[in-house]
Amino acid sequence: MPPHFDMKEVCHLLLEELGDHAIFIIGVDGKLATWNAGVERVLQYTEEEFVGQPLTILFTPEDIANKVPEEETRTAAQNGRAPDIRWHVRKGGSRIFVDGVMVALKSQTGELIAFAKVMRDVTERVHADEALRASEARFRAIVNATSQVIYCMSPDWTEMRQLGGGGFISDTESPSTNWLTEYIHSDDQPEVLEAIQKAIRAKTVFEVEHRVRRVDGTLGWVHSRAAPLFDGNGEICEWFGAASDITARKVMEQERERLVMDLARSNDDLSQFARVASHDLKAPLNNIVQFSQLLLKRYKTAVLDETAEEFLDLIVSSAQRMIRLTSDLLRYAGLSSTPLLPAKPIRAKSMVEGALANLQGEIESTSAVVTCGTLPEVNLEGALLLQLFQNLIGNAIKYSKRDAPRTYIGAEEDGDYYQFSVRDNGIGIEAHHQDRIFEPFKRLHGTDIPGNGIGLAVCKRVVERAGGRIWVESALGEGSTFYFKLPRHEVPKES
Ligand code: ADP
Repeated sequence: MPPHFDMKEVCHLLLEELGDHAIFIIGVDGKLATWNAGVERVLQYTEEEFVGQPLTILFTPEDIANKVPEEETRTAAQNGRAPDIRWHVRKGGSRIFVDGVMVALKSQTGELIAFAKVMRDVTERVHADEALRASEARFRAIVNATSQVIYCMSPDWTEMRQLGGGGFISDTESPSTNWLTEYIHSDDQPEVLEAIQKAIRAKTVFEVEHRVRRVDGTLGWVHSRAAPLFDGNGEICEWFGAASDITARKVMEQERERLVMDLARSNDDLSQFARVASHDLKAPLNNIVQFSQLLLKRYKTAVLDETAEEFLDLIVSSAQRMIRLTSDLLRYAGLSSTPLLPAKPIRAKSMVEGALANLQGEIESTSAVVTCGTLPEVNLEGALLLQLFQNLIGNAIKYSKRDAPRTYIGAEEDGDYYQFSVRDNGIGIEAHHQDRIFEPFKRLHGTDIPGNGIGLAVCKRVVERAGGRIWVESALGEGSTFYFKLPRHEVPKES
């Protein structure tokens, strides 16, 4: 047996429970006939203010002008119900968006007794929808305005909410949860996921370069960067990101890496070859010198005439030149494997002194005067720095005019570098030769001045490996100044 209850009482309780719904009856005369607590909550009228008023007090002036209340009542009378989803007016004139319905109440004989209305305030939802639509419109505007890939992600990145592919990768109109496998190359997925976790944990920018599947199915590279958007509580509510196509740059980088590796390999091969060749050449050359000298010594008076002696002298001096050349080649080839960095900074002055000691013979025979300004300490292996000074000072003396050669060595600070100079009052160099002389075996002189054209090439290699630069300023007949710059603080990078 059903429990006995008072129907009126139950209806009253139901109306009270549905307090966030305005539920009321409208008489056939169009007057509001009842009130519930929801009416006050949704429409802000008390019972006294509400009951007896015309239904039209709830409608906007525009809807009244367009006869919407009559239309709604007519539809409800005809069809039994009429949707009421529109802006309404509350007491005081403020507007709310209502999701409601008007129902016609009829007697058992079908006679219209009254209308009932149920209204729920969904203004907030409408505002949220509007905000979403505006945000989507802004998103579209940005997508259209840029050639970049633009995307929105959920706070934990499990869902890609939107993506404008910029013609580069395909657009996503509806949220997608399999974006990772869909767009990102499988080898790059772990790195991307790690960058995401890091950005979420630190609530900072996500930034990574990775491969993507492009619209045409091929692989491309993007630089992707996303920033978190925060809600009022400081929690991430969305990520907004942009990715730019860096495929061309990546291809170039890969090509450059390949070329650098090829170059390093062929440089190694060449150095190796030069080392072996010059080493193996030395032994037979030494034999030629020794046996020619033996010939001269043993058979000088007995067998050899003056011409033969001259020939033998020539053979010896040529072979000796070749020995020097092979040693220089060996030195040049070995440069790329000589360590650049000293254990502690090197006093440049000591290296100049070392060079002068090695050049003692030349200095004395030409009465050369070499002076030196204040020189700094530098981060370059002492043997290399000594070599540099020895080659430059040696040349300053060698390529002097007849009168006593004068050489000055100086240095000054120039930003992040020390700029050294070796100045002479020698024969000078024509402008169009000033670059060439730094190439291996490039000489401007014949055998009248000894040399094999390796000295300046060695200087250039040392300075450039140390991250510096070498050049000459000169005019024919007016002396030359060789300059080289070495980084002041930075430790030279091995090349
Ligand atoms: P080398 O002195 O053995 O010929 P380098 O490489 O030291 O080789 O020099 C290359 C060329 O540059 C020299 O042959 C010479 O013509 C020119 N040169 C170098 N230093 C000077 C200088 N101080 N004055 C004039 N010419 C120079």
